[in-house]
Amino acid sequence: MNVAISGTRAIDLPRASIAQLMTRALRLRCPHCGGKGLFASFFQLESHCPSCGLRLERGEADYFVGAYLFNLLAVELILFVCVCGFVFLTWPDPPWNLITYVTGLLMLAGCIGCYPFAKTTWLAVDLAIRPLTPEEMQWHQDGGGVGDRELPHI
Ligand SMILES: [Zn+2]
Repeated sequence: MNVAISGTRAIDLPRASIAQLMTRALRLRCPHCGGKGLFASFFQLESHCPSCGLRLERGEADYFVGAYLFNLLAVELILFVCVCGFVFLTWPDPPWNLITYVTGLLMLAGCIGCYPFAKTTWLAVDLAIRPLTPEEMQWHQDGGGVGDRELPHI
């Protein structure tokens, strides 16, 4: 456990395991603390975690580009599973037109349905790769502006 003392305030910073980070993310909770309320709406992420104060974009304007990659991977996985499943179930005479339309609709639904999960999962992966330090958490909670500090990079 990391504890940073800044002024008169100490930040207790428990470290979640990778399994905890991913489980919390897949439940649409803050990967760092497990708190609820990260989303103002289905597509709108709050700026901070209401429980721990972590900036959900970690202070980077283009932070969620990685989430788009995760969403793309989820949709490609849906495509792969659907096409293989349909072909396997209907072999030797697969209805290619039906497979095309149904798979297309499922991919569109998956793209929309996976969107919030892609964001929280990306945040969890980033926290696993670049763990939150007490100094960064202090910066998040103090509300410093983007560009005020350099975040640790890999
Ligand atoms: Zn939190």
